Amino acid sequence: MDFVQLILDQIKSHSEAQELSWLKELCAFLTQNICPLLCGSGPPAAGDAPTGSVSQLGVGVVKWLQEVMAVKHTLPVSYRLVSISELVARQRVACVSNLSWSTSQQRAWAREAEQVLPGLRALPRVNLLLIGCLREGRGGEWRLTDASGSVRCECLSPSPIWVNRPLFLSHWNYIPQDATGQDGEEERGYVELIGSPVLLDSGPEQGLADSPGGGPGLRRVVGVKDAAACLHNSNKGLRISVCGCVSSVCPQLVIGGTTFFIFILKDDTLTLPVLVKDSSRLWWHQCVCVGQRVCVTALRVCILRGWRENRILCVTNQSEIHKHADEHTQESTQNTSTCEQALNTHTYTQESTQNTPTQEHTLNTHTQETTQNPHTDTLLLLSHDGEDLEEAEPQRHVVQSTVRIKQSRVIGYQGIVTEVLSEGSGLYMIDGKVGLCLAYQPTLRRKLRPGDAVELHHIHFLYGPCPDSPPSMLCACLRSSLRVTAFSRVTGPSDASHPSDKALPRLLLERNMGVAEYLWICHMTRQLRQSLVPTLLKEECVSVLAWKLIEFVWRGRGGGMRRDIYSEMLDEPHTCPLTQYSINPSVSRCLSLSDCLHSLQSDLWSGLSLSSLLPPGAESLTTAQLNAALSWSYQTLSSDPHQDHPPSGGKDRQRPLVLVGVLAFPSQPSEHTLQLQLKDQKGTMSCVVTETREEEAGLQNTPFNTAWIGCLVCVQKFTMVTERFLQSGFPSYKHLKQEKYITHKHHSVYLQFSLDDVHILIPSDAMVTILQETKREESRAAGSDRKRKREEEGELDSSHSTKDSSHITKDFPNLSSSDTVQSGCSSQTCVSMVIRVEQKEGVARRNIGMDSTNKAGFSLCFSAKATAIGPVVSWERDPKNCRLMEREVATEAEREKVVLLFLRSSIRWFPSLHPGCIYRLVAVNTQDLHVLIGSGIAGRSGVDILNDRNLQVRSDWRFHTLPRLLLLPAYKQSRSPRILSISEVIDCSPAELVCFHGLVTERISLNDKTSSAGKTHTGVRLTLNDQSGRSLQVYLDIGHTSYTPGMLPGNILLLSGFQRKLSKSGSVYCRSLPVSSITVISLGDTCLALPPPAPIIHLGSWEPRYNVGQVKAHVACFLSLQLQWSCSQCGSVYTQSCSSSCGSSSSVFQSKAKLVVDDGTGEAHVLFSNLLVRPLLRLAESQWEGLQRLLRVRGHIRVYTRGRSLVCEPSDDDALLQYLVCVCSSDIVCRPISLTCRIYKNSQHTHDLRRFSRGDRDFMTRMNPPLQLTCLHLDTESESVSGGGAG
Ligand SMILES: [Zn+2]
Ligand SMILES: [Zn+2]
Repeated sequence: MDFVQLILDQIKSHSEAQELSWLKELCAFLTQNICPLLCGSGPPAAGDAPTGSVSQLGVGVVKWLQEVMAVKHTLPVSYRLVSISELVARQRVACVSNLSWSTSQQRAWAREAEQVLPGLRALPRVNLLLIGCLREGRGGEWRLTDASGSVRCECLSPSPIWVNRPLFLSHWNYIPQDATGQDGEEERGYVELIGSPVLLDSGPEQGLADSPGGGPGLRRVVGVKDAAACLHNSNKGLRISVCGCVSSVCPQLVIGGTTFFIFILKDDTLTLPVLVKDSSRLWWHQCVCVGQRVCVTALRVCILRGWRENRILCVTNQSEIHKHADEHTQESTQNTSTCEQALNTHTYTQESTQNTPTQEHTLNTHTQETTQNPHTDTLLLLSHDGEDLEEAEPQRHVVQSTVRIKQSRVIGYQGIVTEVLSEGSGLYMIDGKVGLCLAYQPTLRRKLRPGDAVELHHIHFLYGPCPDSPPSMLCACLRSSLRVTAFSRVTGPSDASHPSDKALPRLLLERNMGVAEYLWICHMTRQLRQSLVPTLLKEECVSVLAWKLIEFVWRGRGGGMRRDIYSEMLDEPHTCPLTQYSINPSVSRCLSLSDCLHSLQSDLWSGLSLSSLLPPGAESLTTAQLNAALSWSYQTLSSDPHQDHPPSGGKDRQRPLVLVGVLAFPSQPSEHTLQLQLKDQKGTMSCVVTETREEEAGLQNTPFNTAWIGCLVCVQKFTMVTERFLQSGFPSYKHLKQEKYITHKHHSVYLQFSLDDVHILIPSDAMVTILQETKREESRAAGSDRKRKREEEGELDSSHSTKDSSHITKDFPNLSSSDTVQSGCSSQTCVSMVIRVEQKEGVARRNIGMDSTNKAGFSLCFSAKATAIGPVVSWERDPKNCRLMEREVATEAEREKVVLLFLRSSIRWFPSLHPGCIYRLVAVNTQDLHVLIGSGIAGRSGVDILNDRNLQVRSDWRFHTLPRLLLLPAYKQSRSPRILSISEVIDCSPAELVCFHGLVTERISLNDKTSSAGKTHTGVRLTLNDQSGRSLQVYLDIGHTSYTPGMLPGNILLLSGFQRKLSKSGSVYCRSLPVSSITVISLGDTCLALPPPAPIIHLGSWEPRYNVGQVKAHVACFLSLQLQWSCSQCGSVYTQSCSSSCGSSSSVFQSKAKLVVDDGTGEAHVLFSNLLVRPLLRLAESQWEGLQRLLRVRGHIRVYTRGRSLVCEPSDDDALLQYLVCVCSSDIVCRPISLTCRIYKNSQHTHDLRRFSRGDRDFMTRMNPPLQLTCLHLDTESESVSGGGAG
């Protein structure tokens, strides 16, 4: 009560009851929370008796209030004084308090804040008042302290004279922090002090803030130049006081437990670093601002060992810092201006408004806002536009793949943080346009929030260091200064932080990563988080995974130099890891699978020109040919756009792609999705997968190992395939633009890749076994001779092996339990049997009768014949693909045949079971051996009555590939079934079923099987070649079997269970049966050379089994030439309309020529048609078109041979006919030619009987009809050379 009266006396006013009680509370608060502080651990500032000080403090508060509120006699009774402990304990929401605001001011303030950052809310206002002392805390932090506790206090531009004095805070934010931080010690929140606080004691501030030279400490102050001179001729014990302009404030570092920072003073020409290591002076870090003049006293000279033993000024525990007030600036104008030239500041309009209301009324203003510096106007302003920031960038769309090294520019920048991209990795957006990377600096104590105004000095400006981050990047090194000039007025989304991002700056430091790499890895972390976390990966692992990925993708590009922190901070001229950066426009781009799928599907049909799907010369196709040609088409895109021929894609297809996903079986196998899949948590893509195998098997490819299932992999080299299926009724080529003729369309999009190009990021359990075994084998082989080592290579390419893979799976528990097959507790009891698959049927719809679901009828299934290598054995725990045991193996005689039947979901095993391979078949959760013994009712001791055991594979059974590596030495030589080459298939004696492999050179849809069910194009004719160039046609009926993707030209297929047949002409072909299956075993390179040319065959020795051959012969004579406009539908002659009046209104020009060629060993009749006729006649394009025009009226013309001369019908007087006769008999046409032909009709089996008459006698003689060939290709290239020479 005494205090209240004392205060009232002092301020000479009378108050109402309400105000009196407020004053009472104020006094109580001061007594309880502030006075103990002042008299207790006495700071030098206040030595008065408690009584006096309470009234003194109270008077200070009330006097100030009266000035601020501008209305006398009114106290802010709606405001409540809050103690620090109460604030920290109870304030859970970020808030702002400003005593001087009116409601409308506050609304305007909030509106303005929300306009700048749309989507974010302004801080809510609270009516709380804070009083406390600012004291230094740990590591240079400032703490607002009262008797109840303390809270970290962030200040914009603090003055040293605030320290240890009672302060009244009139404008502040309180930001609570997530207490979830794993540091434990993490604070619940912090106070942001805006403007200057009110000093409540009238203590010795005058003395401290005295003019330079006035105070005792400032008596012998020297400039930067003199101080620099002192450095070199100093005697011990010398203490120097220096005045200068701050040009850099390096971030606070902790090295070997010592916290320190360095700031640099600057003169006209010289720089002078000052080291602050004394823990009682670390709080200076907040006071020292770039561009301000400061005086520092009692500095001593010391040697900085880390900086090449250079001498440096060091702050002592007697040192004091003085900031110059406004009036001093004039004295040192020239200094300030030179100093400011380094700062290219950009004025932000809202910048200074925040401080004004309080500042005008502050009693003790010692703050000088750097932003109000008069020199600002003359400085180079940086705009927000990228154009201004970047020198012209013409190369951007020209050519890629050249890595350029660029120099960064060092600039100053002011702006507003608009987005926190990643707290942990130190990435922010400024002004919505410019990226800010703080990863090369230690983590900030106060997290930047959207809305913070920041001032950056000596910051590196980089343009386009990483295509996945904003093109304009500001990157801070240890020399850069970052200062928050205005605290954000909004509350940010608090969930933007991902704990695992914190690992990234550590990686940056450890690996000396370049900035481009770092930005890419940050982007990858974001991307992987979206596509894998949480279903496939734990959040903690994502940045480690991104790191593994970059190691793989950026192979060979190591980190930069080791960082030297002292040189980075102090050396002139400045060098740091950010001085240079590389620009690589073809950095791999990681796509999520859903994005990949979407981009492939988006322009699949829209904007498709159907004519582009057709072969050249499509104009002359009849209706049937045209629609058949359209019925299937495909397109491939390589993951690396530069490998496509021609290079594909526009701007967004400039960079090679990388995919990350888990290899898995389809969850719902069907006839369309029987392939393996690559999936992430948002998308799934089917895959055609191949793998290289050991050489000795004679075939370079091996089936898929089941251990791949469940592996998280990165695929760097792959092909994206689109197959289009179209049912149409286009009458002719001219109608292609009319969509109404398309009756049905669908497509299939999938990936093709080889497992050799796949990198395992996280192996499956089974893969871990293989990797460990490989490693063991390798180390064993290292000791023994080289030959054995070579033997044991293969199976799993060493590039797959990941170091310490077992510990990796421990790190990623989520993954190993995530996927389909590998999941399950390994302690389950189970039974198993080792089998070798001998034969596998294709998946087809078959009538398998009733099943457990009582659904009779057709269902997808396949069966496989296998040999049981040994007996059924039981296990305590799932053996998976562990090494083969002796007890699992029986003698050769005891081995039995097993037929495995796969139904419904079990058909998912189809892609991974292959003849010749050994598998462990595991039935889990059972000890009953009979489960695997099968339906052939077993007799005693496992002897079956039936020859073959039948086993229906249950959905929970698992197959584990046992590669040679895991077999017993005696079983390592597993024999594969005999696989024939194309030549062998052609030459072999008639065999019922063949198994062969060949390169696809052509694929044609056969759409003559039109059914009403809506599916027409069920026939496919593949032409397969082998190395020798010989080819074989294979007819597939894909109506009843599952569709095999990857039957594309360039790929090598393995076809098993195909029927070898002879055509009427005697040539060999193959056709599919329901048991046939097709496997893609090798993927064609998109830039693969053409298939080997067909063998050269002499006409005299052409046998029927030579399907296709090259002939070099001479044109002996023409037999016939026919040119005709045909009805596109029925093929009749077409003049004005169809001659058979079928109603069609479209016609195509068709040509046919038959001639005799002779190569010296024999002769043949060769048929040329359409596209081949014009080059045969050597007519120019214009001549050919002229011919077509001339024939429009009469429709057709035919020239044929009679005797030795060419004649024509209908009349010999026709000029056109004469012309053609001339052409056909000219030397230009009758010339040596080189052509590729297919046999057309067999001549051996059908001998013509001919009657000859000589005199009155008739002779019957058996004539061999001539060899009939169809020309497939006419080699015009070699001709044009020789032709040119002749002409
Ligand atoms: Zn730097
Ligand atoms: Zn017709």
